[in-house]
Amino acid sequence: MNQKILSVHNTQIPALGLGTYKLTGKDGEKQIEQALHLGYRHIDTAEMYGNEAEVGNAIKASGMPREQIFITTKVWPNDFSKKRFVPCVEDSLRKLKVDTVDLLLLHWPSDDDTNKLATELLNDCLHKQYTMLAGVSNFSIKQLQAAQKIAPVCCNQVEYSPYNNNNALLQYMQQQGMMLTAYSPLARGAAIKEPVIKALADKYHKTGAQIILRWLLQQPNVAAIPKAGDEKHSRQNLEVFDFELSDEDMQKVFTLAK
Ligand code: NAP
Repeated sequence: MNQKILSVHNTQIPALGLGTYKLTGKDGEKQIEQALHLGYRHIDTAEMYGNEAEVGNAIKASGMPREQIFITTKVWPNDFSKKRFVPCVEDSLRKLKVDTVDLLLLHWPSDDDTNKLATELLNDCLHKQYTMLAGVSNFSIKQLQAAQKIAPVCCNQVEYSPYNNNNALLQYMQQQGMMLTAYSPLARGAAIKEPVIKALADKYHKTGAQIILRWLLQQPNVAAIPKAGDEKHSRQNLEVFDFELSDEDMQKVFTLAK
């Protein structure tokens, strides 16, 4: 399948991934496995989602070689302590049934001192090869800069749909050669219903979700991780690499920012 690949810290990362929040239990496992069969090669999970075991089972059941799948997981702030951080990552690896993840994120910022400690612990996980890359999520530019002084942070996963204005953060991250991973890229389905999006869907003979995902993925250094439990949605979300939005139409989507 034709996919956009981002090159970040010498690693090739499929720009479109599968968000898995709420994909739990046997159904979730099947939905994740099905996504792998459809062509997804980037899976986003987190300790907090309670579905790392499901992701691990789905990868095993798919028969896909581990090295072909980019796996991201995250550590929740409750575990940002010397005592809990590394054991928590070891638990994630056990559930995922892998020796290492591709990207490990601090899920949410805490206070400055705790962020500093957690970023040092991210470094420990890099040295232990529990993860290949280190990143953060929901960090401001200031918090990101502080983390960059401690660890080779390559990613900030933040909410990014047509409703969010992330210009300053994205510009900074592009300058730094980092990846901005857009979570809730469809605004949990709400942005699809916008008249501007509907008009573009008609113009390009695509769905609203495809217009939004294309708009995100056309921006340099941006990855997107839509969640789709429905097979039709999952399939549609992959079909965004066979058309291009004009500059004018890109700008129309930017006008939806609140
Ligand atoms: P989202 O991806 O914006 O929206 C998911 C919703 O859109 C689901 O209801 C899904 O329905 C629907 N949908 C998906 N594809 C569609 C399509 N082609 N047409 C119509 N509807 C479609 O929202 P999200 O789940 O909040 O975010 C995605 C992922 O981001 C999460 O799963 C998680 O991995 C990550 N995330 C991270 C953070 C963080 O703090 N780092 C926070 C929130 C989310 P169906 O499921 O029925 O297909």
